Amino acid sequence: MAYADPALAGILKSLPGDAAGIMRFVADQDLLALTIPAADGGRGAPLADGVSLTYDLARRSGSAGLTYAMHLGQLHTWAAHVKGSTYLADELRYLIAGRKLVASVVSEPDTGGNIHRATAVMGQTVVVKETSNTSYVPDAGAFLVTAMDTSGPKPVQRLVMVRADATDAVEMRRNPLMGFKDIDNRAWSFTFRYPQEAVFADPFATIASTTMTAATHLLWAGLWSGLAARALETASRFAKAELPPDIAAPVQTQLSTLRNQHYVLNALIRDNLAPNPSTFAAAAAINRLKIVGSEAARDIALACQQIIGLRGYAESGRYSLSEVVRDAISGPLMVANARLQANTAGIDRFSEERP
Ligand SMILES: Cc1cc2nc3c(=O)[nH]c(=O)nc-3n(C[C@H](O)[C@H](O)[C@H](O)COP(=O)(O)OP(=O)(O)OC[C@H]3O[C@@H](n4cnc5c(N)ncnc54)[C@H](O)[C@@H]3O)c2cc1C
Repeated sequence: MAYADPALAGILKSLPGDAAGIMRFVADQDLLALTIPAADGGRGAPLADGVSLTYDLARRSGSAGLTYAMHLGQLHTWAAHVKGSTYLADELRYLIAGRKLVASVVSEPDTGGNIHRATAVMGQTVVVKETSNTSYVPDAGAFLVTAMDTSGPKPVQRLVMVRADATDAVEMRRNPLMGFKDIDNRAWSFTFRYPQEAVFADPFATIASTTMTAATHLLWAGLWSGLAARALETASRFAKAELPPDIAAPVQTQLSTLRNQHYVLNALIRDNLAPNPSTFAAAAAINRLKIVGSEAARDIALACQQIIGLRGYAESGRYSLSEVVRDAISGPLMVANARLQANTAGIDRFSEERP
């Protein structure tokens, strides 16, 4: 997708190659708040530009792509749900001015990928929460935390914004994962301190259904599309340079077939960026983007590695796809596709798929 903000394409020509360098570059170029309104200190670009930037970052480094996608999904959600709160608006501007990341504190050992459950309970000004994995905590300036508000007649899941300097974080475990090696992933025991104004007025269920799920899945899809693009480029370069013409020709046809899947992933991104008047149809469509898109990227990465053979399977070298495969394989399990499919089956009763 072309950028709505034409300055972005030029900026990207000088992207560094490593994850830390890319994230420093993104911060230095003021791209961390890309889709946030200018009045709040952002660049005011559409979410489509955030997806495109994630794609471009992921072509260089999956770790940079995922870090950017997770951060922007959180920041975008925060900005959309300030709802007149002076405190949340001031803190948003402060975080953006400091060019810091926002981390997501949702997954707990007991709730796994079920974002609609939390065992952590909000006190008046403190939440204690143990997580199964939280990314880039040392680089975060703030956290968006889910917890249960049990003060009313019925428990309500809420979202709270907590500054990093009001957080005690005790590492419980390092999480060396198969992919995304350049992201700091650990299980933490957090103690978050916050004033009441830091609690978002909308219940978390509303925040998730109106903003967070769609923004996150679209940005993640930009990541998967970028990983798939890198796999396709590498395999195509290999076929042209290394294979004899009689073998290269059928391989090019095979690559063209894989591009069909990449096209479907990108078409699903474009479809989900467009407004959808039906709430049910929109919820089913964004789940389908997550499920179909993550599986397409994984399949493309693996097939491209097979095309290249040993040099694709190698840990390094000009045709290595090991990092891309390791990163792409996580897509279907970052919020399990089986869980999302079960959820979508429930929605399907209320919506009809039309051309
Ligand atoms: C690189 C990376 C970074 C991450 N960073 C963060 C972060 O910063 N913050 C954060 O909060 N989380 C983070 N996560 C966690 C992530 O988003 C998911 O919450 C987590 O991966 C889910 O954990 P799980 O697979 O143990 O969960 P579960 O949801 O328990 O799923 C385990 C398995 O159970 C099965 N299953 C579960 N439910 C169903 C169902 N309804 N139907 C059928 N089968 C089902 C599936 O086979 C599934 O794979 C990160 C994950 C990764 C991979």
